[in-house]
Amino acid sequence: MGKRALLNVDYTNDFVADEGKLTSGKPGQAIESSIVALTREFMEAGDYVVFAIDAHEDGDELHPESALFPPHNIIGTSGRSLYGKLADVYEQNKDRANVYYFDKTRYSAFAGTDLEIRLRERSIEEVHIIGVCTDICVLHTAVDAYNKGFNIVIHKDAVASFNQAGHDWALEHFTNTLGASVL
Ligand code: ZN
Repeated sequence: MGKRALLNVDYTNDFVADEGKLTSGKPGQAIESSIVALTREFMEAGDYVVFAIDAHEDGDELHPESALFPPHNIIGTSGRSLYGKLADVYEQNKDRANVYYFDKTRYSAFAGTDLEIRLRERSIEEVHIIGVCTDICVLHTAVDAYNKGFNIVIHKDAVASFNQAGHDWALEHFTNTLGASVL
């Protein structure tokens, strides 16, 4: 079995908290303990743990999401902070060599970032994806991982969406179309 990485996607106040700008609400809040437990487990096992976090500029009219969604995860706002106990776990472990936090500006954690280079440098073949939203950023990250030849594992108790139908559809898509293991 190849080496593995945990991709922690967009678990921030704006996507999870009640007052978040684009919140998944209760379904997002319900996965907090699973997200935290998996993050701790991978960190302590020495696996590569990345935080791929949406970053938007205020008033960026050229960004395609501006026409689709209210402003969210604006750089410098508390909406962009990691939600709940995940923030503490990150703060306590951010200096570990196997922890990497980076900004992303599109749904996929691979779009315009150095994620793929970093995974290849470490001979990582298997990516475990957790976070929100199942049918948007988790999905697009998984599609890119599939196209790049990574094995994909989705932890279904650690992904959520504001759209239950989209969430359910995406879980089937991971299995049936991307060949992912959904645990
Ligand atoms: Zn966004």
